[in-house]
Amino acid sequence: MRFCLAVSHPPDAALDSLSVLPEAADRTIAHLDVDAFYVSVECCRRPELRGAPVVVAGSGPRAVVTTASYEARRYGIGSAMPAAKARRLCPQAIFLAPDFALYKQVSRELMALVRAAATRVEVVGLDEAYLDLTELSFPHAAMRRLVAVIAERTGLTCSVGIGPNKQVAKVASDAEKPTGFVVLTREQACTRFAQAPPALIPGIGPKTATRLRALGVRTIEDLAQVPVELLRERFGTNAGRALARMAHFEHDGEVTDERAVVSASRERTFDHDLSDPAELQRALATMARELCGSLSKQGRSGRTVSIKVRLGDFSTVTRARTLPQATSDGEVVADVALGLLREYRPSRPVRLLGVRLAGFHATSADGPGAGAPAGHNLPAAMATDQLLLPL
Ligand SMILES: [Mg+2]
Repeated sequence: MRFCLAVSHPPDAALDSLSVLPEAADRTIAHLDVDAFYVSVECCRRPELRGAPVVVAGSGPRAVVTTASYEARRYGIGSAMPAAKARRLCPQAIFLAPDFALYKQVSRELMALVRAAATRVEVVGLDEAYLDLTELSFPHAAMRRLVAVIAERTGLTCSVGIGPNKQVAKVASDAEKPTGFVVLTREQACTRFAQAPPALIPGIGPKTATRLRALGVRTIEDLAQVPVELLRERFGTNAGRALARMAHFEHDGEVTDERAVVSASRERTFDHDLSDPAELQRALATMARELCGSLSKQGRSGRTVSIKVRLGDFSTVTRARTLPQATSDGEVVADVALGLLREYRPSRPVRLLGVRLAGFHATSADGPGAGAPAGHNLPAAMATDQLLLPL
């Protein structure tokens, strides 16, 4: 049995996992992202909401904004902002509770249209996908057509970025939202985003951005001028090299339709910090059982059970234990998670509690959930109660 203790930081996952490969030549990659997805779905259901400041947010004192309409964003409301603050900024906004079942259903329709448009599609969230258009003769026209078909069939508007790699495509799709359609070469991306902060680049998270600022790096152009040797020395060989390449919008990641789900988790931010061990145990056991319920329906099981505990002072600890055999038995996972919690014994009231199962095995290769997309490893900064959104 393996035991490990780690203090978690906001993960710069893409940076950690970037491998260094020779640049693939002449690819055309698109990134498609629905504009204000949850709000747009709500507006399709209730057209009278169109044009109004609309905010989809959870309830409770610690609820955060999941999506704000562009009208609401004009008041300074943004994703992940506490809902209470959003209410102060725009008291006349219409606040709606998220309806994840509906968003998942709309996402399925949307992704069926996206998959029909290219041979290789990588779904990276309910409303986001990369498409490899390299084989198409008229890739831009194909994306325009796809955007039109999505609007016609679902009522949703999208933004599209097209470039020679995933990084250019992703940053371009975000550059002129809503209804953006931005096509850039690598060189054009370097020029256009030269003065933007490094954190604009996917894979450069807040922790890396802070370390870069300490080196005097404030823009992507600054980063491009740092000698790769220095980046390697400060960030390690692979991450340093990856950062240097990111600064030049060089990226080799494939558009892959393999659904490499490696872990799944549930977590909950409590309305008030909890210190009663019995209450904490109840919450953890419930999440473990729910998690296993949905995983066993998908025919998945895992070997590594971990818990995440965020205390009232925001310090966050994870503890993990690897079992000899994969399981999706809720009682087994709950038992291990409770054991980890008992051993950790939080020293202060707990703000957030989570459980994760990793090291997946498919117990049935074509179970109903075998096609679930990757990307459910949620950023540590997210603070909603409904965190796992499998399609
Ligand atoms: Mg979106």
